[in-house]
Amino acid sequence: MRWRETSPVHRSEITIDLGAVRHNARRLLEALEGAELWAVVKANGYGHGATNVARAAVDAGASALCVVTVAEAVELRRELPEARIIVMCPTDELAEAREARLELVVSVSGEIPEGIPVHLKLDTGMGRWGLAELPPPPANVVGLMSHLATADTDPAFARQQIERFREATEPYPHLTRHIANSAAALQLPDARFDAARCGIALYGISPFNTDPTEHDLRPALSWRSRLARVFLLPPGESTGYGRRFVAERPTWIGIVPVGYADGFRRDMSGTQVLVAGEPRGAVGTVSMDAVAVELDRELPVGTPVTIVGDGLLIERHAWVAGTIGYEIACGINSHPARARRVVVD
Ligand SMILES: *Cc1c(COP(=O)(O)O)cnc(C)c1O
Repeated sequence: MRWRETSPVHRSEITIDLGAVRHNARRLLEALEGAELWAVVKANGYGHGATNVARAAVDAGASALCVVTVAEAVELRRELPEARIIVMCPTDELAEAREARLELVVSVSGEIPEGIPVHLKLDTGMGRWGLAELPPPPANVVGLMSHLATADTDPAFARQQIERFREATEPYPHLTRHIANSAAALQLPDARFDAARCGIALYGISPFNTDPTEHDLRPALSWRSRLARVFLLPPGESTGYGRRFVAERPTWIGIVPVGYADGFRRDMSGTQVLVAGEPRGAVGTVSMDAVAVELDRELPVGTPVTIVGDGLLIERHAWVAGTIGYEIACGINSHPARARRVVVD
């Protein structure tokens, strides 16, 4: 059992390539033509590990980090004592935020907190967070922002939002204006203003749910496992819950010890993985801890399986699951009790 020898504990391995993150950051900086790059590392860096990604992004020229909660920010602050860190969602943890030298975003009406740098967020069409109108900014306001609803799908509506933002912020040229996300940074030059908040492209995942290499982005995450069991399924026999795959002829099946608790979602049934480098279909119901793969021949236990990487895009799984790369990435569970995470610098 080679599997036992090589990996007694971990059922899969997630590798994060920080060189790819730095490449993507430089690629974004190039597209931004002088506007600042702010690296969005919320949700544990879209499942990639916030601290490592943040450090790589800063090394490559990102000048601030954006997260969603004060707790996420405090964790980053421990590792990056000098970085600008912006908390994008509303919070009442003001004391903690001041203590950790964070910047806050005010996006629902009410008081603007004092004694801490603040960005005012205007709703220009996202219809989610955001003030209906910009109040006259007090002295601790450092930035004005908005968020685009359709930078990836409807550039015409995005341009309307950009124009509303431009008009509303025109009286305050001394403040840092930022509206662009990854999709806008890559394809809407009008959205650049002074800074862009980019997440997904930094990880080398396409904001357009297409092939990221079209924009010269390099996927940073790969996810690999091994065949943990191989057997021949006789005709009429099935694999997995619900008997959703029944063999029509004698069929070699490989069991990969990764399931929906690890982020291999149930709606990824039917997607392809690479077994010994060759594409093979995941068949039957994905269970919590395992997924079955149809093989074309008997292969040894321990044969490498790539779920993401080696040219297999996270986007492909997103297409099968009817979702976007963002959601697949955020769902990958790299808790040490389930997987091993390796960071390559
Ligand atoms: C998540 C987020 C971003 C980053 O969006 P990407 O599409 O990942 O680049 C930017 N701004 C806000 C307000 C966000 O919540």
